[in-house]
Amino acid sequence: MSIQVIKFGGTSVANISRIKNIASIIEERIKSKKNKIVVVVSAMSGVTNKLVEAYKKIKTDTLDPEYDVILSTGEQYSSALISTILNEKRINSRSILGWQIPIVTDSNYSKARIFKICQNFFRDQFSNYDVLVVAGFQGVSNDHRITTLGRGGSDTSAVAIAYALGLKSCEIFTDVEGIFTSDPRIVKDATKIDFITYEEILELASLGSKVLHPRSVELAMKYGIKIHVRSSFKKNIGTMVIKEENKIEKEVVTGITSSENDAKITLKGIPDKPGIAAEIFGILARINVNVDMIVQNITDDGKFASLTFTVPIEDQANAVNELKSSDIKFKNIHADKSICKISIIGVGMKSNVGVAQKMFETLAKKNINIQVISTSEIKISVLIDLPKKKTAITSLHKAYGLKK
Ligand code: ADP
Ligand code: ASP
Ligand code: MG
Repeated sequence: MSIQVIKFGGTSVANISRIKNIASIIEERIKSKKNKIVVVVSAMSGVTNKLVEAYKKIKTDTLDPEYDVILSTGEQYSSALISTILNEKRINSRSILGWQIPIVTDSNYSKARIFKICQNFFRDQFSNYDVLVVAGFQGVSNDHRITTLGRGGSDTSAVAIAYALGLKSCEIFTDVEGIFTSDPRIVKDATKIDFITYEEILELASLGSKVLHPRSVELAMKYGIKIHVRSSFKKNIGTMVIKEENKIEKEVVTGITSSENDAKITLKGIPDKPGIAAEIFGILARINVNVDMIVQNITDDGKFASLTFTVPIEDQANAVNELKSSDIKFKNIHADKSICKISIIGVGMKSNVGVAQKMFETLAKKNINIQVISTSEIKISVLIDLPKKKTAITSLHKAYGLKK
């Protein structure tokens, strides 16, 4: 018996005609190869957002178990609908929810992590069904409560199930033809990438590109599972996510991404003395606020410093209030949400010089001011004004020769 795991995202199952389209993809595989298929599905596009809105009218705390129960219903609906359509086509199928397998997670509601998946369940079910339509994004905790894996988490469900079944690959069908050099909805002449390394897509996904859930890439990288990202609407081969050593040609910059999820906080006139940064970031850590980019400047007389850093946009108000009510002495505090982070990513950066200089020069030519910089071996991120986002991405895309 040969098992395949294939995942369809929200746009691919957005309405009955799209579901009929994916039913044909599934039918072809069942007929031509006598395969057994695990189909992992997202909620129909827009549904999860509506569920979030409904919940937030009542409560803002997402770490509430009922939040997860509400959100998981989107996938319950789509999986049953898809299975019904498959059965109408005489494809022997059933829908399955996370708790039925079970997909056991921790109790970290709204961003639960998977502990284990029972593989025997799939083997048993395949004696009665050819296609198992699994609701993605959800699991069950040890205290028998429904959990969800974080927005976009169906990709992680798919990779985790592939691993549990001992498979070496997994296909993610989505609404674009693969992974592109930049979001094809922002950069019209973005190019499809044929091969991308785990490290590169992990950076792209973590730094804002939502084409894959970052945790799905982490899992695939850890267990050596190849991911094929491809279109639900076209038959072409998409993008293969592979190990770095298998990538023959290493571009200096593989992709460019942006994120609007951060806010910038600047503290001016802080005494320049040892321990002050530890104190400030200690306060933020205590209230569970994650700090990303940081830059510090000292005044000419060396007495005062100013500190700029970014935090998740939803934590900004809380961070500012906490700092204002602390014992830390500063002259003023300023928060700015109208910023975005632009990142360039590529494993080839490790062995090439002048990559950062080209980025800064390109942005300078467009009169775009860089507020904060952070780097790693394979990425450079800069913080800029939000209205300059599109110009920044398109000019960098051109500068690094990524255009079609
Ligand atoms: P799904 O519902 O199938 O999970 P998502 O909306 O989560 O789909 O992810 C696909 C979207 O990711 C695309 O529609 C595209 O706009 C966006 N995206 C962002 N960056 C990239 C990129 N570099 N390559 C491809 N798509 C990208
Ligand atoms: N439906 C969930 C979301 O919109 C999970 C997913 O689509 O992967 O975030
Ligand atoms: Mg997605």
